[in-house]
Amino acid sequence: MRKINTRNFRLATRSTPREVNRRIVLNLIREYQPISRAELARRMSVRRGTLTPLVRELVESGVVFEKGTAASARGRRPTMLCVRTRGRLVVAVDVRSGKSAIALSDVGGRMLARETFDTPASPDQLAELLANEVTRLLRLHAPNGAEGCQGIGIVLPGMVDRTTGKLIYAPRLGWRDVDLRAAVTARLGMKVFIESAPIACALARLWLEPENTRQVNSFAYVSVSDGLGVGLVVNGEVLRGETHTAGEFGHVSLDSSGPECVCGRRGCWEALACNAATVERYADELSGTLPRADGKPRRARKASFPGIEEVVRRARGGEPAAVRVLAETGRHIGRGLAVVVSALNPGRIYVGGEITEGWEFLEGPIRDALVEGTISGKAGAMPVVPDSSLAEYRLLGAVALVTAPGYAALAVG
Ligand SMILES: [Zn+2]
Repeated sequence: MRKINTRNFRLATRSTPREVNRRIVLNLIREYQPISRAELARRMSVRRGTLTPLVRELVESGVVFEKGTAASARGRRPTMLCVRTRGRLVVAVDVRSGKSAIALSDVGGRMLARETFDTPASPDQLAELLANEVTRLLRLHAPNGAEGCQGIGIVLPGMVDRTTGKLIYAPRLGWRDVDLRAAVTARLGMKVFIESAPIACALARLWLEPENTRQVNSFAYVSVSDGLGVGLVVNGEVLRGETHTAGEFGHVSLDSSGPECVCGRRGCWEALACNAATVERYADELSGTLPRADGKPRRARKASFPGIEEVVRRARGGEPAAVRVLAETGRHIGRGLAVVVSALNPGRIYVGGEITEGWEFLEGPIRDALVEGTISGKAGAMPVVPDSSLAEYRLLGAVALVTAPGYAALAVG
């Protein structure tokens, strides 16, 4: 039940019921493809006659195509319907501190080309670089150039105002109040969509993997990487809040005497559980247990340490210090998850990031901290699902930014 907002509403028009039904048909085709008209009519509990014009419109607009035939029990061979992905392209951009990625994908999330580049120091330089890269990628890989391109999706490590397309604040980039959407649109003249990375990852789960979210309409996507962010989906919709900062659990302080965070506070969930925090704890463990015979200062050893992947590799090789450190990070992740679960009561939590390659060391401590930090007792049974291909998900999230609006329920009232 949703209250009508009397200051901001959309009236239904004469074409609204038809558009609503067309989107229902499109969603059913996407989820169950390839699917026959008879099966569609059965799933919708309508007669074939009701369905025929809706399917015809989708086929004529090029969104759906008819594919071969499938044998049926009585020997008739119905035409099957599928969502068209070929030739319908999206440019996906994943901006991170350090290295960023750009990819050309079809609307189904199949990557056709992918490149990385050093993230420029300023938003203006980024817009300039993207303008050149997008043009080059489309020239190389798209037969019709910009014509078949549905838009550009950009994910950023920070808070984004969805209505204005402005980046509100990205602590790791040091960027504030940046209108990146306008800067890129002005240079390319294409539709540009901008979103925070964890929300985009949640959107990718919601829209590009229907088989995973068919039963769970409320979930959280927690991305543990350079930073730590959360995307929340409630009843099939991303939760944004009044000023677009909902889900900012990463900068909730869990320990007022904890390590200093990039945001300036102490003991934020991010400062305790992000990759740099884990690597630093591991370096501390090593310097505590090893004799310092080499005489090198500790900082030098830290600086030369390779990163989170190496900590995970060493844990899997059975090194006790690495195992201990991952378990501690697991506890920190679980403590924050307890806050998320208390606020949202999701049906599932995804944890994305390089560290989840070592899930066997994280899962137990995450689960323990989650049970300890919540009072319902049900948190212990809630599925927590690792996702080691976070980089992939951020790009898929960028794709979903462009494609999802075409499938979304129409908002009227
Ligand atoms: Zn912080």
